[in-house]
Amino acid sequence: MTERIVVGAALVDGGRLLAARRSAPADLAGRWELPGGKVEEGETPEAALVRELREELGVDARTGDRVPGQWPLRPPYVLQVWTARLLPGSAVPEPLQDHDALRWLTPAEIWDVPWLDQDVPAVRGVLALPGFG
Ligand code: C5P
Repeated sequence: MTERIVVGAALVDGGRLLAARRSAPADLAGRWELPGGKVEEGETPEAALVRELREELGVDARTGDRVPGQWPLRPPYVLQVWTARLLPGSAVPEPLQDHDALRWLTPAEIWDVPWLDQDVPAVRGVLALPGFG
């Protein structure tokens, strides 16, 4: 089966990482994730991330470095993560779709929320980046 990529954003601002609480589906609701979603046919992962952040949070963002590694989701999906920043003049993130709460976490607060299991290694990778991405 061909691997399909789900992109997650390590959206960092002022030394804090944005975490988003899922509102659906039922088995994921209440758990926190790096916002993102499936890469569509003919789309680059970076373009998918910018699109997903606009759809889900209403923001204009640009991608930065990729967080090394990839993590298995339900086959055929794998999670890849890029750092991202808000563009000047972007709206403030709001939970428009798929989420019902957002939090900007300092490095000390990172493990205060129950991340999706599959996002935990990715979040560890974000923490390991120099200057938090
Ligand atoms: O957001 P969307 O529903 O397009 O994401 C596709 C799937 O990828 C979700 O069902 C979820 O299981 C998974 N996902 C994840 N971690 C993320 C983003 C998405 O496990 N940070």
